[in-house]
Parts: sequence; structure tokens; C-alpha cells
Amino acid sequence: MAYKTVNPYTNEVEHEYENATDAQVEAALQAGHKLYKQWRDGSGLTERKQVIEKLGQLLRKRKTALAEIMTRDMGKLIGEAEGEVELCASFCDYYVQRADQFLAPKPIYTASGNAYVLRQATGILMAVEPWNFPFYQIARVFIPNFLVGNPMILKDASNCPTSAQAFADLVKEAGAPVGSLTNLFINYDQVGQIIADPRVQGVCLTGSERGGQAVATEAAKNLKKNTMELGGNDAFIVLPDADIDKLAKVIFFARLYNAGQVCTSSKRFIVPDNLYDEFLKRAKEVFSSVKMGDPLDRTTTLAPMNSKKAKEKLQKQVDTAVENGAKVYYGNKPVDLPGQFFMPTILTDITKDNPVFDQEMFGPVMSVYKYHDVQEAIDLANDSSFGLGNTIFGENIHQARQVASQIESGMTWINSGWGSLPELPFGGVKHSGYGRELSEVGFTEFVNEHLVYEPED
Ligand code: NAP
Repeated sequence: MAYKTVNPYTNEVEHEYENATDAQVEAALQAGHKLYKQWRDGSGLTERKQVIEKLGQLLRKRKTALAEIMTRDMGKLIGEAEGEVELCASFCDYYVQRADQFLAPKPIYTASGNAYVLRQATGILMAVEPWNFPFYQIARVFIPNFLVGNPMILKDASNCPTSAQAFADLVKEAGAPVGSLTNLFINYDQVGQIIADPRVQGVCLTGSERGGQAVATEAAKNLKKNTMELGGNDAFIVLPDADIDKLAKVIFFARLYNAGQVCTSSKRFIVPDNLYDEFLKRAKEVFSSVKMGDPLDRTTTLAPMNSKKAKEKLQKQVDTAVENGAKVYYGNKPVDLPGQFFMPTILTDITKDNPVFDQEMFGPVMSVYKYHDVQEAIDLANDSSFGLGNTIFGENIHQARQVASQIESGMTWINSGWGSLPELPFGGVKHSGYGRELSEVGFTEFVNEHLVYEPED
């Protein structure tokens, strides 16, 4: 059985799930399509808002119990998991408040007659999601699309099945009709079959470049609109006037939150020569002060990685980096704990010909680069296949904004680590993907912008 909860702290298999049959897939398609037909003219929004309101209440009421499911699935700290549940509840509030406004017909001003655009559902959405934020990733596509009237079939990562099922059960408990969100434990071929089905009109994936390419290929073959939220190798540019004390306070969050397994966590720190030595010293202080241990213990500050496979992949990347000339400033030693822990590691001297230069290292590894003038930092930040979420840190806000405007990136944060809020569009450029989730932009990704036009006689 491919779908399993293997607790990354204890390495024990806690749950295993049977793969879905083709009959279950067909039942999900039938139920979803039936709902789409009921909802496509805009009907049922009041009831759907009530479901999402209830979902928000349930998330808040069961916060710790739900958080624990995620921690057991993929190892994240219980406090971080609780924060994730809260964030999902905030998506419920935001979209319930805004759904009427976002779905209202939009008048088009033309001298030739009367025109307006209806915002309508398009059909079932096939969502393929990763393990690193098990609830958040589902919530940010399900909540807006359910309000739009697009039912969703979910294929979640094979290592967080218990979280995926818990979220789907919660949606059902909140009163959503059967077919609104169907979580299926399916294989890649079944994902392809679902995408090819004419009842499915949209595909969204959050995951790696590899997964994104495979699923986007299926979507393209079948001419299905798709959005791709992929990886990042994001830069954190420290400007020469940065306040190092303020900066030191965000290092942990920017790189080690969720054991460094965040698409938008800063992976490449690009530091001016006047602050380089001090930056490394501060980063080492932060990295060496973490407490690894049971992620359910609230005193633990660094969680295990999500799986043995992920840890081995990261170790291989660090080994490759070092074999090709990178220096280990801190870390890269075995951790004497049974779980999938990776010692926080700081690498320097990664040159452009190092194979890891343009790779995402998805775990607690920081790469530090030195620059002399700001243009060099901008060029280095942009010298990447990815473009997801970068950070600029500096006291002169005008300079920071000016640098931000020159970064090839879907998102840039100034003087803070990465973040995600319901009203802020989330997504990337280049190999970090296309399309946006959250905000009004994400809400309308799978909306049929249906023009109605009545020319004047
Ligand atoms: P992954 O291997 O691409 O997996 C993501 C999802 O895609 C999983 O459900 C996986 O299923 C599925 N999948 C993979 N290959 C597939 C295929 N050929 N056909 C159908 N489904 C397929 O990604 P990951 O390495 O687990 O996740 C981490 C990546 O996600 C990182 O690169 C991270 O940066 C990125 N990410 C991006 C964002 C964003 O918003 N841009 C947010 C979070 C994470 P299985 O588990 O069964 O393989």
C-alpha cells in the first residue's frame, strides 16, 4: 500500500490505506459533476458559505487534535501545526466575507451596447497536493473553489494520507454535500485518467518540478487549464545597511521553520562583504541553538524531516555541494536520534559550476554567498531557474523597494521572512510555476469569466 503514515519521529507505521478502485474514482466524478450542474448558474452560494463558516468553526474548535494528525503524518512541530490550522480557519473567514463580491457580475463599459461578465463555476478540479503543509495546501484551493461551485477531487501526498482524510471528513461534517471534496488514494495513472475525463475542467498541483511537469503534461494533452505551485531556491538579499540585530531575529523563521521544508523559505542568503562575517556568526548562533526532539513536545524547536527519503536526498545534495568545493561553515554531522533529523547546516563557497547552485535544498540547509555591490546581489538572486518568494533586508526602504522591483520573483518580502495570508496572492514565475492561489486572483483561477453581450440596434 503506497499511502501510509510513517511517523518521522518514531519511524513507526501508524496507518496504511488501500488504494482507491476505479469504481471509487467514477463515483467521485459522478458526484462532483452532479454538484457542478446544480451550482454552475450561481445557485447554492448561501449554503456553501454556511458550510465554510462551519468549517472555520470546526478547525478552531479541534485545533490541537487536527494539528497532532499533521505532526504524526509528516513530523512538523505541534505549535507550527496549530498555526497552520488557524491559518486555514482565517481562509474560511476571508472567503466567506468576500465571496459575493468576487462572484458578482462585472460590468464591461462599451459604447456598442450592454456587456457584463458572469463569474461562474467551470467544473471539477483535480488537485494534487504535497505533504509540507497538509491542511493549508488543501484549504487554499478547496475553500475558494467550493464557494465558486467547483467540486474537487484530491490526490494528496502518499506520506500524509491521514491529514488529507481528516480534512475531507471535516468538510463533510461541516455540511458539504457528497462530491464537494473527495479525497482519493490514487496512483499516478489514475490522476492522468481523471485529468482526461471531460467532467474535469481544471488541474492544480503544488509540489516539485518533477511532479509539476508530469501533471502539467497530462493537463496540456487534455487541454485543461492548470496552475502549478512549484519549488523555489529563493534569495534573501541582505543590503549593506541592514540592521544585523533585526536580521538575526528572522533567520530561524526564514530558514528553519517546518524543518526548512517550505517552498518559500529563504535558501540562498546573499550577504554584502561588510556584514558577511557577522552574518555567518549570527546564523551559526541560531542554527546551533535549536532543540531537536519530539515534535509533539512544545519545547522542541527543530522537527525531524518528513521522511527517510527526503533526508537521504538532502544529504546527497550536501555531499555533492561539498565534493564540488562548497565549505561547511556549520553542521552536516549525524544526529544521534532515531527520527529523520538533519543537523542544521550552513554552506559557503558554492560556485556557479557546483551542481547544487541551481537546485532547491528542501530542508534545514542555508547557503551563504558574498557580494560587493548591490547589482551583483540582484544578478545572483536572478541567476536561478526558480522565482518564487525572495526577501530583501535593509534600512533604506526606498533602496529595498527598488531592489525588490528588479527581482524575477512571484513574491518579495521586505524586512521580514516569508509569509502567507488569505488576501495575498501566492505563486511564482519561471520553474516555480504559474497561476496564483489565495486572494481574489487565486479565487478566480478556475472561474469561467462568461461574457454576456447585447449589442445596440
Ligand atoms: P512532489 O514529489 O512533486 O509531490 C507533490 C504531489 O504530487 C504529491 O501528491 C505526489 O504524490 C504528486 N505527484 C508527484 N509526481 C506525480 C505524477 N507523476 N503524477 C501524479 N501525481 C504526482 O513534491 P514533494 O517533493 O513531495 O513536495 C515538495 C515540493 O513542493 C518542493 O519542491 C516545494 O518547494 C514544493 N512546494 C511548493 C509550494 C508552492 O506554493 N509553490 C508550496 C509547498 C511546496 P506522491 O506523494 O504519491 O508521490
